[in-house]
Amino acid sequence: MNPDLQANAKEILDRVRSAAEQAGRNPDEITIVAVSKTFERALMDQAYGLGFRVFGESRAQELRQKSETPFPADAEIHFIGPLQTNKIRQILPHTHVLQTVDRKRLVNALAKELEKQQRSLKVMLQVNVSGEEQKSGVAPEDASALLKHTISTYGLQPIGLMTMAPYGADESSLRDVFRRLRELRGELQEEHQVDLPALSMGMSDDFEIAIAEGATHVRIGRALFGTRE
Ligand SMILES: *Cc1c(COP(=O)(O)O)cnc(C)c1O
Repeated sequence: MNPDLQANAKEILDRVRSAAEQAGRNPDEITIVAVSKTFERALMDQAYGLGFRVFGESRAQELRQKSETPFPADAEIHFIGPLQTNKIRQILPHTHVLQTVDRKRLVNALAKELEKQQRSLKVMLQVNVSGEEQKSGVAPEDASALLKHTISTYGLQPIGLMTMAPYGADESSLRDVFRRLRELRGELQEEHQVDLPALSMGMSDDFEIAIAEGATHVRIGRALFGTRE
């Protein structure tokens, strides 16, 4: 067992718990997505041994390689990276939730493959709340149309929204981004009469703020596994 991993895990669980309690929320509502991209499969297995069940991967090829040894049946992989349509078939067998649906073309390509395989897939819409040009994600004003399309398309089950906050922004801007995602979720639920329980927001440096603003999924890489190469 990697001693740092064990210590980091304990610290993160404590911090998630106290952030939830401070916000008057039940810590059990919050899923830690252990972002294992770039880290070895062996480290994921150790994290599983410490109780983590949900892992975040962002590269199709890497996910396929790590899946050569099957994951335990109760482990869950969330794909959190940008997804090209030609990689769909590579990730589908190993992905439980796709957090990065951001365009109609991707929805259509996913539906085509899902229909072929007669299966469904839980998805989140990735929203570019901060409007930074280099970020992927649907613009907030286009999220409603994308959700409508997703709902009406074969096999995709929308369960919520995901966003990435601007890197290195101050606390109040971060809070603003997270709050806007939560408000958008409320508007979309109302407009489309669907349940969107999941709000995936917050990473190693800002997950406590995200929890205060309603995050149900925090995506934590470095704070758990250590610095990435
Ligand atoms: C890498 C990544 C994370 C985790 O980032 P850390 O800073 O390592 O916690 C979260 N979300 C997405 C989409 C990522 O690509």
